[in-house]
Amino acid sequence: MALADIEARIAAAAARSGRAPESVTLVAVSKVQPEDRVRAVIAAGQRVFGENRVQEAEGRWTPLRAEVSDITLHLVGPLQTNKLNKALALFDAIHSVDRDSLARKLAEAVQARGACPTLFVQVNTGREPQKAGIDPDELDAFLMRLRGDYALPVFGLMVIPPADEDPAPHFTALAEMAARNGLTGLSMGMSDDFETAIAHGATHVRVGSALFGSRTG
Ligand SMILES: *Cc1c(COP(=O)(O)O)cnc(C)c1O
Repeated sequence: MALADIEARIAAAAARSGRAPESVTLVAVSKVQPEDRVRAVIAAGQRVFGENRVQEAEGRWTPLRAEVSDITLHLVGPLQTNKLNKALALFDAIHSVDRDSLARKLAEAVQARGACPTLFVQVNTGREPQKAGIDPDELDAFLMRLRGDYALPVFGLMVIPPADEDPAPHFTALAEMAARNGLTGLSMGMSDDFETAIAHGATHVRVGSALFGSRTG
Protein backbone atom coordinates (compact mmCIF):
# COMPACT_ATOMS: atom_id res chain seq x y z
CA MET A 1 0.00 0.00 0.00
CA ALA A 2 1.35 3.40 -0.98
CA LEU A 3 0.30 4.84 2.39
CA ALA A 4 2.71 2.62 4.33
CA ASP A 5 5.48 3.54 1.91
CA ILE A 6 4.86 7.30 2.29
CA GLU A 7 4.63 6.96 6.07
CA ALA A 8 7.95 5.08 6.12
CA ARG A 9 9.60 7.76 3.97
CA ILE A 10 8.25 10.48 6.28
CA ALA A 11 9.55 8.66 9.35
CA ALA A 12 12.97 8.13 7.75
CA ALA A 13 13.25 11.76 6.68
CA ALA A 14 12.25 12.90 10.17
CA ALA A 15 14.79 10.55 11.77
CA ARG A 16 17.57 11.90 9.54
CA SER A 17 16.83 15.34 11.02
CA GLY A 18 16.61 14.02 14.57
CA ARG A 19 12.86 14.58 14.59
CA ALA A 20 10.06 12.32 15.81
CA PRO A 21 7.85 10.94 13.02
CA GLU A 22 4.77 12.32 14.84
CA SER A 23 6.14 15.84 14.36
CA VAL A 24 5.11 15.58 10.69
CA THR A 25 1.45 15.39 9.70
CA LEU A 26 0.68 13.76 6.38
CA VAL A 27 -2.12 15.65 4.62
CA ALA A 28 -3.37 13.26 1.93
CA VAL A 29 -4.42 15.53 -0.95
CA SER A 30 -7.37 13.71 -2.50
CA LYS A 31 -8.51 16.37 -5.00
CA VAL A 32 -9.82 14.93 -8.28
CA GLN A 33 -9.03 11.35 -7.19
CA PRO A 34 -11.61 8.63 -7.83
CA GLU A 35 -13.52 7.59 -4.75
CA ASP A 36 -12.22 4.01 -4.69
CA ARG A 37 -8.66 5.28 -4.24
CA VAL A 38 -9.75 7.58 -1.43
CA ARG A 39 -11.63 4.76 0.28
CA ALA A 40 -8.58 2.51 0.02
CA VAL A 41 -6.41 5.10 1.77
CA ILE A 42 -9.06 5.54 4.49
CA ALA A 43 -9.21 1.76 4.90
CA ALA A 44 -5.42 1.73 5.32
CA GLY A 45 -5.82 4.08 8.27
CA GLN A 46 -5.28 7.62 6.94
CA ARG A 47 -7.57 10.23 8.53
CA VAL A 48 -6.15 13.63 7.49
CA PHE A 49 -7.10 14.73 3.98
CA GLY A 50 -6.58 17.83 1.87
CA GLU A 51 -8.73 19.32 -0.87
CA ASN A 52 -8.21 22.42 -2.98
CA ARG A 53 -11.81 23.26 -3.85
CA VAL A 54 -14.58 23.90 -1.36
CA GLN A 55 -17.40 22.66 -3.57
CA GLU A 56 -15.66 19.43 -4.57
CA ALA A 57 -14.67 18.77 -0.96
CA GLU A 58 -18.24 19.22 0.23
CA GLY A 59 -19.61 16.78 -2.31
CA ARG A 60 -17.05 14.13 -1.53
CA TRP A 61 -16.62 14.40 2.21
CA THR A 62 -20.13 15.04 3.49
CA PRO A 63 -21.16 11.43 2.73
CA LEU A 64 -17.76 9.92 3.62
CA ARG A 65 -17.76 11.68 6.98
CA ALA A 66 -21.14 10.16 7.75
CA GLU A 67 -19.40 6.78 7.48
CA VAL A 68 -16.02 7.62 9.04
CA SER A 69 -16.42 10.04 11.92
CA ASP A 70 -12.82 11.02 12.68
CA ILE A 71 -11.77 12.53 9.33
CA THR A 72 -9.85 15.80 9.48
CA LEU A 73 -10.04 18.06 6.41
CA HIS A 74 -7.52 20.67 5.28
CA LEU A 75 -8.22 23.28 2.60
CA VAL A 76 -4.96 23.63 0.65
CA GLY A 77 -6.30 25.63 -2.31
CA PRO A 78 -7.39 29.25 -2.63
CA LEU A 79 -10.41 30.47 -0.67
CA GLN A 80 -12.96 32.88 -2.16
CA THR A 81 -14.77 34.98 0.41
CA ASN A 82 -18.19 33.92 -0.96
CA LYS A 83 -17.30 30.30 -0.01
CA LEU A 84 -16.08 31.22 3.44
CA ASN A 85 -18.97 29.96 5.53
CA LYS A 86 -19.15 26.72 3.60
CA ALA A 87 -15.40 26.31 4.08
CA LEU A 88 -15.61 26.94 7.82
CA ALA A 89 -18.35 24.35 8.16
CA LEU A 90 -16.22 21.78 6.35
CA PHE A 91 -12.52 22.32 7.08
CA ASP A 92 -10.49 21.85 10.26
CA ALA A 93 -7.54 23.74 8.78
CA ILE A 94 -7.07 26.39 6.08
CA HIS A 95 -3.63 26.69 4.44
CA SER A 96 -4.40 29.62 2.13
CA VAL A 97 -4.97 32.77 4.19
CA ASP A 98 -3.21 35.33 2.00
CA ARG A 99 -4.94 38.71 1.87
CA ASP A 100 -6.54 41.33 4.02
CA SER A 101 -10.04 41.15 2.51
CA LEU A 102 -10.18 37.43 3.29
CA ALA A 103 -8.74 37.88 6.78
CA ARG A 104 -11.36 40.49 7.66
CA LYS A 105 -14.28 38.31 6.56
CA LEU A 106 -12.67 35.30 8.20
CA ALA A 107 -12.42 37.16 11.51
CA GLU A 108 -16.12 38.09 11.36
CA ALA A 109 -17.17 34.56 10.52
CA VAL A 110 -14.94 33.01 13.19
CA GLN A 111 -16.39 35.37 15.78
CA ALA A 112 -19.93 34.45 14.78
CA ARG A 113 -19.17 30.72 14.90
CA GLY A 114 -17.12 30.87 18.08
CA ALA A 115 -14.60 28.46 16.60
CA CYS A 116 -11.55 28.89 14.41
CA PRO A 117 -9.85 26.35 12.16
CA THR A 118 -6.08 25.91 12.24
CA LEU A 119 -4.77 28.74 10.08
CA PHE A 120 -1.74 28.89 7.81
CA VAL A 121 -0.73 32.02 5.91
CA GLN A 122 0.33 31.21 2.36
CA VAL A 123 3.50 32.99 1.25
CA ASN A 124 4.44 33.51 -2.40
CA THR A 125 8.18 33.07 -1.82
CA GLY A 126 8.82 32.86 -5.57
CA ARG A 127 6.92 36.14 -6.15
CA GLU A 128 5.08 34.50 -9.06
CA PRO A 129 2.43 36.95 -10.33
CA GLN A 130 -0.15 34.25 -11.11
CA LYS A 131 0.24 32.45 -7.80
CA ALA A 132 -1.69 32.92 -4.57
CA GLY A 133 0.10 33.86 -1.39
CA ILE A 134 1.23 37.06 0.25
CA ASP A 135 4.44 38.75 -0.87
CA PRO A 136 7.29 37.95 1.56
CA ASP A 137 7.88 41.67 2.14
CA GLU A 138 4.29 42.11 3.34
CA LEU A 139 4.18 39.04 5.56
CA ASP A 140 5.24 40.45 8.92
CA ALA A 141 2.79 43.36 8.74
CA PHE A 142 0.01 40.99 7.62
CA LEU A 143 0.67 38.69 10.57
CA MET A 144 0.53 41.66 12.94
CA ARG A 145 -2.86 42.62 11.53
CA LEU A 146 -4.17 39.06 11.75
CA ARG A 147 -3.10 38.68 15.36
CA GLY A 148 -3.82 42.25 16.45
CA ASP A 149 -6.69 43.82 14.51
CA TYR A 150 -8.44 40.55 13.67
CA ALA A 151 -7.57 38.51 16.77
CA LEU A 152 -7.07 35.44 14.58
CA PRO A 153 -4.73 32.74 15.89
CA VAL A 154 -2.20 31.87 13.19
CA PHE A 155 -0.62 28.43 13.43
CA GLY A 156 1.91 28.56 10.64
CA LEU A 157 2.99 29.36 7.09
CA MET A 158 2.43 27.54 3.80
CA VAL A 159 4.33 27.62 0.52
CA ILE A 160 4.07 26.17 -2.98
CA PRO A 161 7.52 26.78 -4.50
CA PRO A 162 7.81 27.61 -8.22
CA ALA A 163 7.47 24.37 -10.18
CA ASP A 164 10.69 24.84 -12.15
CA GLU A 165 12.99 25.73 -9.23
CA ASP A 166 14.90 23.92 -6.52
CA PRO A 167 12.39 23.98 -3.64
CA ALA A 168 15.03 23.92 -0.88
CA PRO A 169 15.74 27.69 -0.78
CA HIS A 170 11.98 28.32 -0.60
CA PHE A 171 11.63 25.91 2.32
CA THR A 172 14.57 27.59 4.06
CA ALA A 173 13.03 31.02 3.51
CA LEU A 174 9.63 29.91 4.84
CA ALA A 175 11.18 28.36 7.95
CA GLU A 176 13.09 31.57 8.60
CA MET A 177 9.94 33.70 8.21
CA ALA A 178 8.06 31.41 10.62
CA ALA A 179 10.82 31.45 13.23
CA ARG A 180 11.13 35.24 13.08
CA ASN A 181 7.36 35.51 13.71
CA GLY A 182 7.19 32.89 16.44
CA LEU A 183 5.18 30.42 14.34
CA THR A 184 5.65 26.67 14.68
CA GLY A 185 3.60 25.31 11.75
CA LEU A 186 5.24 24.81 8.35
CA SER A 187 3.03 23.45 5.55
CA MET A 188 5.51 22.60 2.82
CA GLY A 189 6.46 19.65 0.65
CA MET A 190 4.43 17.74 -1.94
CA SER A 191 4.90 14.40 -3.72
CA ASP A 192 8.23 15.30 -5.31
CA ASP A 193 9.88 17.08 -2.42
CA PHE A 194 8.31 16.19 0.93
CA GLU A 195 11.50 14.62 2.27
CA THR A 196 13.45 17.80 1.49
CA ALA A 197 10.70 19.80 3.18
CA ILE A 198 10.92 17.63 6.31
CA ALA A 199 14.69 18.24 6.41
CA HIS A 200 13.84 21.95 6.48
CA GLY A 201 11.32 21.60 9.29
CA ALA A 202 7.97 20.86 7.62
CA THR A 203 5.23 20.01 10.13
CA HIS A 204 2.61 19.34 7.42
CA VAL A 205 3.41 17.70 4.09
CA ARG A 206 0.71 17.76 1.39
CA VAL A 207 1.04 14.61 -0.66
CA GLY A 208 -1.32 13.75 -3.51
CA SER A 209 -0.15 11.77 -6.53
CA ALA A 210 2.62 9.82 -4.73
CA LEU A 211 -0.07 8.44 -2.44
CA PHE A 212 -3.15 8.07 -4.66
CA GLY A 213 -1.56 7.75 -8.09
CA SER A 214 -1.60 10.16 -11.00
CA ARG A 215 -4.55 12.55 -11.13
CA THR A 216 -4.82 12.23 -14.92
CA GLY A 217 -5.18 8.44 -14.88
C1 LIG B 1 -2.47 19.23 -5.52
C2 LIG B 1 -1.77 19.87 -4.40
C3 LIG B 1 -0.83 19.15 -3.62
C4 LIG B 1 -0.44 17.72 -3.91
O1 LIG B 1 0.36 17.68 -5.05
P1 LIG B 1 1.13 16.32 -5.46
O2 LIG B 1 2.26 16.81 -6.29
O3 LIG B 1 0.15 15.49 -6.21
O4 LIG B 1 1.59 15.68 -4.22
C5 LIG B 1 -0.24 19.82 -2.56
N1 LIG B 1 -0.54 21.10 -2.26
C6 LIG B 1 -1.43 21.81 -2.97
C7 LIG B 1 -1.71 23.20 -2.58
C8 LIG B 1 -2.06 21.23 -4.06
O5 LIG B 1 -2.95 21.96 -4.77
